[in-house]
Amino acid sequence: MNQRVLAERARRAIPGGVNSGQRNVPGLSDLVIAHAEGARFRDADGKEYLDFHAAFGPPLLGHNDPDVNAAVAEAGNGADLCGVGVTEGEVELAETLAELVPSVERVLLTSTGSEATFHALRVARAATGRRLVVKFQGCYHGWHDSVSLNVISSAEKVGGRDPISTGILPEVLEATLVLPFNSSQAVRQAFADHGADIAAVIVEPVPHNVGCLLPEQEFLRTLREECTKAGSVLVFDEVITGFRHHLGGWQAISGVTPDLTTMGKAIANGYPVGALGGRADLMDLFSSRPGGPAFFAGTYNGHPAVVAAALATLRKLRAEPVHAHVFALGERIRSGLTEVFDSLGIPALVTGYGSVFVGYFMTGPARTYDDLLRNDANMFIGYRRRLLDHGIFELPLNLKRSHVSYAHTDADVDRLLEAAAVAARQAGG
Ligand code: PMP
Repeated sequence: MNQRVLAERARRAIPGGVNSGQRNVPGLSDLVIAHAEGARFRDADGKEYLDFHAAFGPPLLGHNDPDVNAAVAEAGNGADLCGVGVTEGEVELAETLAELVPSVERVLLTSTGSEATFHALRVARAATGRRLVVKFQGCYHGWHDSVSLNVISSAEKVGGRDPISTGILPEVLEATLVLPFNSSQAVRQAFADHGADIAAVIVEPVPHNVGCLLPEQEFLRTLREECTKAGSVLVFDEVITGFRHHLGGWQAISGVTPDLTTMGKAIANGYPVGALGGRADLMDLFSSRPGGPAFFAGTYNGHPAVVAAALATLRKLRAEPVHAHVFALGERIRSGLTEVFDSLGIPALVTGYGSVFVGYFMTGPARTYDDLLRNDANMFIGYRRRLLDHGIFELPLNLKRSHVSYAHTDADVDRLLEAAAVAARQAGG
């Protein structure tokens, strides 16, 4: 069935026509994906795209990795004893995550990253008896109320809409302090003013969701120091940064140790697994509080098929030079795009880390979300819309990051850079 007809059916059957991701992306509202493999996907009309969006990041090995799929098929559904026991796979996965991520002593498996951040904040509030959560502009931590969907800055709570229209309780927003990323001074001031009420600081070590900001070392260290002084819980949300960048997560890169760590996305190469790990005394609150298990049990936590996906993904990440490959391609893309935009005289700041890249049409530097507002959104979206004409998929939405995977090749990067030169000229002219 053709794409337009399927998209019409989707709009009638599903609110907004999509279940996940961005709704109504201009120019892509009819997109129906038929199949994805390696670095490519095909739409329902048979058009093939070289995919640098990668579903916001999970398929680090590439779509439909055969080793991961084989492990899932073998695990099947049969051993799902949820609610009464654990499987060997769950034990192995928890042990592997604890071995890899320096500060993790115990691991609770979930189905999504949102559940992991939800549990992190709940346990931080339980441990401290406090209610305030500090988060940072540009950081997204999931869809649940505790971190308030799309709270980007205090002036833009819930994307500029009032809490009631989004269904989020105003008191949840009032329990959230939103600070500028990379501002140690703002963090010190928040602790000076409210330290005794701050249950947790939650931070994406590299905010990837609205742009891609690199953390200053002093900033991450300040978070650690202030949390330690005030007895607040430091949560690194490594749903993206964990495993996509390093097998030990960003904490291994930065040397700054959080109390709790959330993981997801690349840990199972696209199968639905999340995890919360951390200090044993905090994690044990899940089982030691009266009625504890009922507050975090999820029917599908530790499901055998997705646990097998995670174990197969981690095995491959350890055994093969995945990070070296994606880092090399990422570097080629960043320097190649810088050259392309420079040679055309288009002001651009190309940034990212490892497998993640993004080119803003602005002059640098970009330390905070407010800096990113200087990006020329029309140019950014126009450039990416033109890449689509070349069969190259980078999401045409302002500030969104892009990814390379182990399945991308040097020839794929060549294709991107060639198309970038044409698309940037057209978008700029
Ligand atoms: N934290 C971060 C940093 C994320 O990027 C996301 C998803 N984009 C989440 C949490 C939520 O994860 P999920 O979509 O699996 O619920």
